[in-house]
Amino acid sequence: MKITILGCGTSTGVPVVGCPCNVCVSKDPRNFRTRASLLVEWKGRNFLVDTAPDLHMQALAMKLRRVDAVFYTHGHADHIFGLDELRVFNFIQGGVIPIYGRPETIEQIRRIFDYIWDPGAPLGGGKPMLETRVLDGKVEVFGLPVQPVEIWHGQQPITGYVFDRVGYLTDCSGLPEPSRALLQEKELLIVGALRHRPHPTHFHLQAALDLIAELKPRRALLTHLSHSFDYQKTCAELPAGVELAYDGQAVEFEDRS
Ligand SMILES: [Zn+2]
Ligand SMILES: [Zn+2]
Ligand SMILES: [Zn+2]
Repeated sequence: MKITILGCGTSTGVPVVGCPCNVCVSKDPRNFRTRASLLVEWKGRNFLVDTAPDLHMQALAMKLRRVDAVFYTHGHADHIFGLDELRVFNFIQGGVIPIYGRPETIEQIRRIFDYIWDPGAPLGGGKPMLETRVLDGKVEVFGLPVQPVEIWHGQQPITGYVFDRVGYLTDCSGLPEPSRALLQEKELLIVGALRHRPHPTHFHLQAALDLIAELKPRRALLTHLSHSFDYQKTCAELPAGVELAYDGQAVEFEDRS
């Protein structure tokens, strides 16, 4: 299995449009953050977590040639607005792409992208061919074991995921007890950490570090990052085993089977 951080930026992306701060004008490519998304490669199949508004650019950067399924965390714009980019994978590989999410997320996607499921909508440049699938527990998708994990995004329950030995929790501000049990001692835990100061709907840096200390993954990456983090400076201050993620970062795991 291989995972790649397609994007590790918060909803505005970094640089933030119009911002003259040190991080936004930095020449370090690791301070260039597209909107948060993950690629999971498993036995020749490619899975996405979310379709960020930057999916077009992310797919070009990764030379991505197929997408076998998408797992959505929630229906916020920065996580779903690249959905129409899935069309091109329909063109290349043919067939329908299954997209998974909790009931509210699937409902939001079907409402926001209503033209896709409207037989009366004009075809134009083609519509994505997608099949929505509601998640209500662990599934196996093309052999990949996928465990959805309920997490809190402020007041809203959304979905984190465990893919085999990797946990992915973006836009998280808290976890119910049963979810903590599913996330103990992973090989890799990817957690959202928005900024240094507390925030009502996202973990700030210290809250993410506290969760990591509790769940004890072998390695942890922080994602959904704002411009409050300079890559080099922040990484130098983080505890051992914890790093900021950067766009294009890949982590490979040996095949156990
Ligand atoms: Zn977000
Ligand atoms: Zn800035
Ligand atoms: Zn969100």
